[in-house]
Amino acid sequence: MKISEILAKKKTLSFEIFPPKREEDTFTLIDKTIKKLASYKPDYMSVTYGALGNTLSNTAMIAKTIKENTDAQPLAHLTCVASTREKVDSVCDELSSYGVENILTLRGDIPKDTTTPIFSDFKHASDLASYIKAKYNGKFGMAGACYPEKHPEADSISTDIEFMKIKQDSGMEFFDSQLFFDNEVFYHFLLKARKAGITAPIIPGIMPVTSYSQIDRMIQVTGCKVPLKLLNQFDRYKDDKAAIEEIGLIFTSYQILDLMANDVDGIHIYSMNKSEFISKLMDNISYVASDFFK
Ligand code: FAD
Repeated sequence: MKISEILAKKKTLSFEIFPPKREEDTFTLIDKTIKKLASYKPDYMSVTYGALGNTLSNTAMIAKTIKENTDAQPLAHLTCVASTREKVDSVCDELSSYGVENILTLRGDIPKDTTTPIFSDFKHASDLASYIKAKYNGKFGMAGACYPEKHPEADSISTDIEFMKIKQDSGMEFFDSQLFFDNEVFYHFLLKARKAGITAPIIPGIMPVTSYSQIDRMIQVTGCKVPLKLLNQFDRYKDDKAAIEEIGLIFTSYQILDLMANDVDGIHIYSMNKSEFISKLMDNISYVASDFFK
């Protein structure tokens, strides 16, 4: 089933997982993490794609496992980076043979220090989506990425949203957002996107807060704004792992509760394959969530 068909009827719960770097961790991911996450009845589970890394071949296999072992729709990520038309065809054919019907079309992160050509046939996510739409004649439901605090390379949030409109026109039927920690930022972004003609569902992406170094890394990578009150709490307890975990769990729980109360289109959780943290999180929000996702 296409995820857009689910979104036409209800608000979605989804988790992002990533193929482990080490082959031996793949079994644990499939056997424990996916099963545990599936117990929260997500509508879809997305699987990241590392164009030049060793996770490449695993994305389709993990999407297949989700399809065969859970009620969630797999959403396989696919990037322009290092992709030729032939490679995209072969990934799409493989996904299709597994019954995977949904693809998150992305440009991909540009790797540093690589001699492999980065862009050959597709420069932007919208080029990839247009190609798959035409070649596979609407067989795949497609989604894209969006950035509440703008993509780091975009000149402004307005131009980034103009490109988001091109993405929508290229066939992306909904958007999963980049992580953010300040809901006000997301609500302002949503208003601007709707005014610019984005009618597709926009699902907020939530990164569970689990450690000080993780927050620091996210600020470096995405340039996201972190509420001062959270930074202050982390500063106060930075050497106390248990305190940081408790603060992070409550912060993330409240962030999701607030988004649900503000009637967003769904909740997409970057699970980071941390099923234990996700269990605590889902328990914290269970009452409101049971009504929101029904
Ligand atoms: P694009 O839409 O191509 O945008 C890239 C830049 O170009 C932006 O600045 C945009 O404003 C601009 N732009 C867009 N369209 C046009 C156009 N037509 N003409 C001119 N400029 C344009 N990376 C991975 O490698 N693997 C993953 O699995 C992965 N999963 C992700 C999941 C989510 C939900 C998100 C938010 C990101 C993910 N990423 C992943 C990271 C993503 O690939 C990077 O952020 C990348 O730099 C941009 O990807 P994009 O699809 O948004 O690119």
